[in-house]
Amino acid sequence: MSTTNPDISVVIPLYNEEESLPELAEWIDQVMQKNHFRYELIMVDDGSKDSSWKVIETLAAKNSNIKGVKFKRNYGKSAALHKGFEAACGNVVITMDADLQDSPDEIPGLYKMIAEEKYDLVSGWKKKRHDPISKTLPSKFFNSVTRKVSGINNLHDFNCGLKAYHINVVKNIEVYGEMHRYIPVIAKWVGFTKIGEKEVEHRARKYGVTKFGLERFVNGFLDLLSITFVSRFGKKPMHLFGTLGTLMFTLGLFGAMYLGISKIYCVYNDIPATRLTQRPSFYLLLTSMIIGTQLFLAGFLAEMISRNDKDRNRYIIEKEINRSVH
Ligand code: UDP
Ligand code: MG
Repeated sequence: MSTTNPDISVVIPLYNEEESLPELAEWIDQVMQKNHFRYELIMVDDGSKDSSWKVIETLAAKNSNIKGVKFKRNYGKSAALHKGFEAACGNVVITMDADLQDSPDEIPGLYKMIAEEKYDLVSGWKKKRHDPISKTLPSKFFNSVTRKVSGINNLHDFNCGLKAYHINVVKNIEVYGEMHRYIPVIAKWVGFTKIGEKEVEHRARKYGVTKFGLERFVNGFLDLLSITFVSRFGKKPMHLFGTLGTLMFTLGLFGAMYLGISKIYCVYNDIPATRLTQRPSFYLLLTSMIIGTQLFLAGFLAEMISRNDKDRNRYIIEKEINRSVH
């Protein structure tokens, strides 16, 4: 990596955090100076309605390491992180929340794990949390489900805002919607498997209020479903829908054929038999055939769509030997 790049890019997504910013910027600067890190601090203002942007302008005027981006409206934490990742050019990228709940004192430890211990991603773990129980309990549940689904068994706290990444990771993952909760999962599926955890200090919110309400749990759950689906079948939808559809259609077809043939047999041999339309199984089998066809069609359409996806051939090459064949 080029030596002109900073050692660390700190990315901070923020929404209405005017009170915290000066203190946070000052603290980060102290930590960086003490450890002789070259750094950039990227503040992404996610459409704040308070004076956050003014504060950022003032801070940036005093400290040339500080950069700022302001969104036109509030697009969400994931969008803010995405923009920050795009802008970052340090060898190690560290994200933290703007509300002073995460301590900048953790930066050197996190940096070391990425730069020296060669982790791809290190997630903070707020072992001792200063949050209400209405937040900590559901979060425990979420984390355990996410561990099971993703197979990342060593993380306790997927949604911690304080994380460190190798620059290659942030340039190769797509954080959208509200997927910031599942960045380690996304990173793993892209192929970054050395994922670690570091216990970090968690502090109570000093200023302002939390920006996420109860809907975080519903959204979080739906996002978990879609991330599981997209990663398993996103590139091969026909494998899921096609299999299910074919199974259901075949079941319906053979069942209906059986009913039909046995009916014909009865008619020819003068055995009394109920009408097909009076047998419930007839309707069930019919429905099965219809749903089977629909599923197959859904799979086919999804397959056509994914053919047009510009990301369809996205892969990361780790090493390559390029011998000329001539
Ligand atoms: N945030 C953001 N956009 C949003 C909501 C939140 O950039 O739409 C930022 C927020 O300013 C903070 C971080 O995301 O820096 C985490 O938010 P918060 O502290 O409200 O979440 P909690 O700690 O309660 O989970
Ligand atoms: Mg917070």
